[in-house]
Amino acid sequence: MHITPEGKKLVTLIPGDGIGVEVSDATRTIIEATGAPIEFEVHLAGAEVFKQGLPSGVPADTIESIQRTRVALKGPLETPVGFGEKSANVTLRKLFETYGNIRPAREFPGVPTPYSGRGVDLVIVRENVEDLYAGIEYMQTPGVAECLKLISRKGSEKIVRLAFEFARSEGRKSVACATKSNIMKMTEGMLKRAFEDIAPEYPDIESWHVIVDNCAHQLVKLPEQFDVIVTTNMNGDILSDLSSALIGGLGFAPSANIGNDVAIFEAVHGSAPKYAGKNVINPTALLLSGVMMLRHLQEFEAASTIENALLVTLESGVACRDVKGDDGGAASTTEFTETIISNFGKVSDKWAAREYKPLVLPQVSSAPDFVKATDRKVVGIDVFVESDLSAEELGISVEELSAASQLTLKMIDNRGTKVYPVTGGAVTDCTDAYRCRFIGDAVGDSDIFDLVAAIAQRHAWVHLEKLQEFDGAATFTKAQGED
Ligand code: NAP
Repeated sequence: MHITPEGKKLVTLIPGDGIGVEVSDATRTIIEATGAPIEFEVHLAGAEVFKQGLPSGVPADTIESIQRTRVALKGPLETPVGFGEKSANVTLRKLFETYGNIRPAREFPGVPTPYSGRGVDLVIVRENVEDLYAGIEYMQTPGVAECLKLISRKGSEKIVRLAFEFARSEGRKSVACATKSNIMKMTEGMLKRAFEDIAPEYPDIESWHVIVDNCAHQLVKLPEQFDVIVTTNMNGDILSDLSSALIGGLGFAPSANIGNDVAIFEAVHGSAPKYAGKNVINPTALLLSGVMMLRHLQEFEAASTIENALLVTLESGVACRDVKGDDGGAASTTEFTETIISNFGKVSDKWAAREYKPLVLPQVSSAPDFVKATDRKVVGIDVFVESDLSAEELGISVEELSAASQLTLKMIDNRGTKVYPVTGGAVTDCTDAYRCRFIGDAVGDSDIFDLVAAIAQRHAWVHLEKLQEFDGAATFTKAQGED
């Protein structure tokens, strides 16, 4: 936290594009009206910056400001087509390694939804930097694409600990871990195992695992059973949008991006350009992100003043166009802002803000080799080959080519299903991307290089993956149908 000589907590404010200016103005006005010792330092990112020709969308002075203040409140940023390839949002997320994305979804008074009256009040804690969203993609052949799903034990421990610490800070009772570990045992299973190892350290909080597809089903069927849900990046992206829809949509969905050193608070919604400058947009999502920011800065009283005033405002029937429609007496953005300020000090009988304790950020080692194996051995190699032959023709050919190698062909699969040798069963519709699995004893690099050179006499190899054992355990999964 950066404290100014006047004793104020400094925050980098990025107003953003489109409706960003209006929602940030409203949020800043409301926060300043509480009298909390917050000073905003305004910096640019997004469309204007792209137009000036900076491909990252985030100028050096903005980065320097966030490095100094360690806290940013950010309006939505547009990625204009034709100016920059990268999203300025992703640039910020990666630059400051904000590994955790916290997205609360709470029912609000005066915001009718099919779930009104059921007390939906849950938080999705989403891993924010790993998984398929690392964006490591390849074309294996002209017709077959590949995306690497990388999930680390370190990243999993960070997000799981953050979820439990966040649950504690909000006095929440349970944390559910949502993964697809039944199918992706190594990657999604990594988060599940970290969750199971760490949960006992939080005996005051109930914990359980739920398969992510069932989690989506349960969120629609019985969302009130959930308190905190921790999950991997892509699962969290989908589940958190689903959760926002349960409570009234994007106008009400705040978020916090939490890193070891920096926290960036932003609305979930984008720049909604068609509403820009019209003074009709709902500023609640960014305002509630600002409330999360105030709690992060331990300004608990100001945060509760705003949250309570917002609840009183909505309960009294004052809301913007997204709730009231065009003919329903909607408040403008500025009227809504002024009403919230006029309700400072009031508390609803039915809709109170929670009691909060400071969030303890997890301390997880930053060592690159976070997990070590004492014993390891290479037991084979997967050679990915591009070929328009049939599986049998390829199998026979590869067996001939590898006859002199100490590695033997165990099987060939196509997109994870064994297709050679075939021992009956359904016939797979093959593509030109095959994986040839070779197994051997005490496999050295020269064995692998010789084998690949032999295969390359007739076939195009496109990708190699070592088959290893760490401390006696296999580190690779079997293909469908492989024994
Ligand atoms: P969007 O800006 O979120 O707007 C989609 C729709 O959501 C709006 O048309 C409006 O619905 C509703 N909406 C969004 N914010 C609202 C608010 N505060 N109050 C009331 N209603 C609200 O999504 P988009 O149109 O797909 O994206 C526009 C730009 O924003 C794109 O350039 C995108 O890349 C960017 N974006 C940025 C972020 C970010 O900075 N984190 C996130 C998402 C998108 P109705 O039309 O039904 O009224």
